[in-house]
Amino acid sequence: QIQRALRSLTIPLDRLHIMKGHMMQDMCRGLSRQTHTQAKVRMLPTYICSTPNGTEKGNFLVVELCQSQVRTLLVTLYGDGNMSPQMMYKIFDMPEGIMQGEGEALFDFIAQCVTQFLAETTSSDTCSSEERLPLGFVFPFTCRQTQLDKAELLSWSKGFSCSGVVGKDVVQLLQSAINKQELCHVDVVALMNDTVGTMMTCSMEGRPCEVAMVADKGSNCCFMAEAYLVEMAEETSGRMCVNTEWGCFGDDGTLDDILTPYDESVDEESSNPGEKRFEKLVGSLYLGEIVRHALIRLTAEKALFTGTDAAILKEKGVFTTQHVLEIINHEDGTSDVKRILEVLGLQPSERDCSRVQQICRAVVGRAATLHAAGLAAILSYMAQTREMETLTVNVGVEGELYTGYTRFEEILHSVSRLLAPECMATLLPSRDGSGRGAAMVTAVALRLAAQRREVNELLAPLRLTRADLEQVQALMRQEMERGLSKQTNATASVRMLPTYVCHTPDGTERGDFLALDLGGTNFRVLVVRVSEEGISMASEIYVIPAAIMQGTGEGLFDHIMDCIMDFQMKQNLMTQTLPLGFTFSFPCQQVGLDKALLLTWTKGFSASGCVGQDVVSLLREAAERKQHTGLQVVALLNDTVGTMMSCGYDDLQCEIGLIVGTGTNACYMEEMRNVGTVEGNQGRMCINMEWGAFGDNGCLDHLFTHFDRVVDDTTINPGKQRFEKLISGMYLGEIVRQILMVMTEKQLLFQGRPCPKLQTRNIFQTKFLSTIELNGLALRQIRAILKELELDASFEDSVLMREVCQAVSLRAAQLCAAGLAAVVEKMRENRGLDQLSVTVGVDGTLYKLHPRFSQNLQKTLKDLAPNCNVSFLLSEDGSGKGAALVAAVACRSASP
Ligand code: ADP
Ligand code: MG
Repeated sequence: QIQRALRSLTIPLDRLHIMKGHMMQDMCRGLSRQTHTQAKVRMLPTYICSTPNGTEKGNFLVVELCQSQVRTLLVTLYGDGNMSPQMMYKIFDMPEGIMQGEGEALFDFIAQCVTQFLAETTSSDTCSSEERLPLGFVFPFTCRQTQLDKAELLSWSKGFSCSGVVGKDVVQLLQSAINKQELCHVDVVALMNDTVGTMMTCSMEGRPCEVAMVADKGSNCCFMAEAYLVEMAEETSGRMCVNTEWGCFGDDGTLDDILTPYDESVDEESSNPGEKRFEKLVGSLYLGEIVRHALIRLTAEKALFTGTDAAILKEKGVFTTQHVLEIINHEDGTSDVKRILEVLGLQPSERDCSRVQQICRAVVGRAATLHAAGLAAILSYMAQTREMETLTVNVGVEGELYTGYTRFEEILHSVSRLLAPECMATLLPSRDGSGRGAAMVTAVALRLAAQRREVNELLAPLRLTRADLEQVQALMRQEMERGLSKQTNATASVRMLPTYVCHTPDGTERGDFLALDLGGTNFRVLVVRVSEEGISMASEIYVIPAAIMQGTGEGLFDHIMDCIMDFQMKQNLMTQTLPLGFTFSFPCQQVGLDKALLLTWTKGFSASGCVGQDVVSLLREAAERKQHTGLQVVALLNDTVGTMMSCGYDDLQCEIGLIVGTGTNACYMEEMRNVGTVEGNQGRMCINMEWGAFGDNGCLDHLFTHFDRVVDDTTINPGKQRFEKLISGMYLGEIVRQILMVMTEKQLLFQGRPCPKLQTRNIFQTKFLSTIELNGLALRQIRAILKELELDASFEDSVLMREVCQAVSLRAAQLCAAGLAAVVEKMRENRGLDQLSVTVGVDGTLYKLHPRFSQNLQKTLKDLAPNCNVSFLLSEDGSGKGAALVAAVACRSASP
């Protein structure tokens, strides 16, 4: 019978595995918005999103409401890694009747305790109303918390039943009571439960602690969850501490098969039968009772205390957890067991003593094992949701059972390791979690609030309002008009260059073409075949050495000819004369489709003798020098035009080209009658806006932040391409870097440690913005990226960096949208339409690869130009295909 009893109290490993699985399922249910209310494991958000980092500083007041006591505590932190906090505390006994009286009386009493405590402990200067004294409130009851300092009491427990409190915000109630005491400098800034305090205390000594377990009268656990999984809270970035409230695990029957008859008896005799099933197996409030019921049964079965009077066992509560712990902690011999049982009035035999000891060991061992299974569920859940193959984490532990049972830690450690082998948990004992921990929560909350204010202030100039964007749109429209007009063209910041491309493709274009692409990331030569079946092409990339880019014009164009001839040789095109389209992505004053004067070099080119010259002639002259006669240059075009044309081949509505890559630019089909710089009023012509220079006349200066100005100053063309410098890939990373440097200076990043690595120009590339902003990217991955840059970012640093990247890329997309809104609205007005449907052909790696840029751009455009229905089509190889199509369209128009 004894063996049977012991067996029923032993849970096999495979059953523990199943239980761990159930616990994880319940955790997910508790976190999900849909299932939260039915979940047994409540998973309550605590709004605590950070653990201490050691920079916390100042005086913090803590008030803890305990069973029949109020504890007040004053903690002074020195910003020294929390190594030596100074603490003073006082405990007040609650007067009779307050726990069941009026709520107001309870909170008044708490406030009086605070007043008295402060009067005794603080000198008049710390108490001066100049300095605010933040207060953390430890309130161990079930609350619906909606902010760190906002928590509505759901129900009283632990013998409390004060009227008028359920459904109210207890933070507010305490603050009002404190204000009545004229302690106007005391602010209640945080409310928390005791488990969270444990986690925070263990975080104090420089090691972040992200899980805490309290194995006491009741049992509970909390941990840092990825915030986006905590659906009940609106927070999506970073992590948030979740209070599991796992005591009710099993209330839906999942634990029924491991319950023994002793557990059932304990439950029946409790004040809340059927509830808190897990807690009743593991909480120290119940262990003595479980043992008592086991002894009653075994006595009845004559397996214990035969022939003696054991009636004393019938008395509820005679056998306390303290007794149980004393019995099992004396491993050698049974003399202590005998003494304890005799004190209780039993007359145990030698054999009784060892059997009672076995039962006690089984009950407490089971409690430890079940704690371990619960802990394993949390650890595995953390590893899974953080997408980590192995998780190393510190676990703060506290409570009567943990400190009272010598083998508890060993069991907790070994069993959780068996059940969650992928997790390495280090158990840290916590002392006085609720007191010191609450001070830490309060300190962290304050640090974060101050940091938030500073961050908001710093990023505010980057956040554009709708009015700002409307203004940019209007200014762009104004500059467009100025660029189109013959009189004002010369002084307009948006040049609005005619391209002599008067038609977009209609799909009937046919033939083989050569294409050149100069001015993008690579120089390429291509052969493009446009046929019934569509467009096919072959290409070759050629390097242009820096010496040639910055040498003479002759040298550059000779080199280009060498590449063309090499390509023709390789492609067996030496004998044919194919029409050639030349994508030349530098600003040009075009005077014909095949005649374009270079206005200025950009992108690192500076070959002499080219500015002011016709680029097509320069190429033709080089062909002559090389005695190459089979070159027929029909068109020179900008890459925006190529992009529009290549998309126009697939979509007849495509009449706008947009580039957002290294730089940014746009083109669109304008009515000839509006193009003051070209003769003729019939039809349309594609206008290369060169909008990157928008603002070079100062009209955008008010939008430039300190960071933008610093970035502009360090470019090779300060004051030029102002619009582009707010938008394109060449600059966004640098803007972010400038912000990060200022944040580091202001000690908002890297815990105020200087970060010399950030001083390196271009270390923060625009492609990092893309990776960092990826949706749902685990912050661990962000840290890995930053590590590669030798930036030792903490978890919070990563969250902050992501916010900076988002602010910079959002602004870029919005400004781009404002420019585009001006374009589509002008086209709509040009055509006298109420509603315009148009497609934008887009190219550029920033647009294509950034996870939010295109979305943000389109959303803003819809908002700014509601009467235009704009689609976006990604261009594939716009420069190559587009050049061939411009040539083809030109040939098509030439031969009717
Ligand atoms: P170009 O404009 O020179 O023709 P691209 O369109 O390929 O060339 O753009 C290159 C620019 O795109 C680079 O300067 C870089 O800043 C940016 N970039 C590269 N990779 C990414 C990425 N993954 N996300 C966002 N921007 C990127
Ligand atoms: Mg390009």
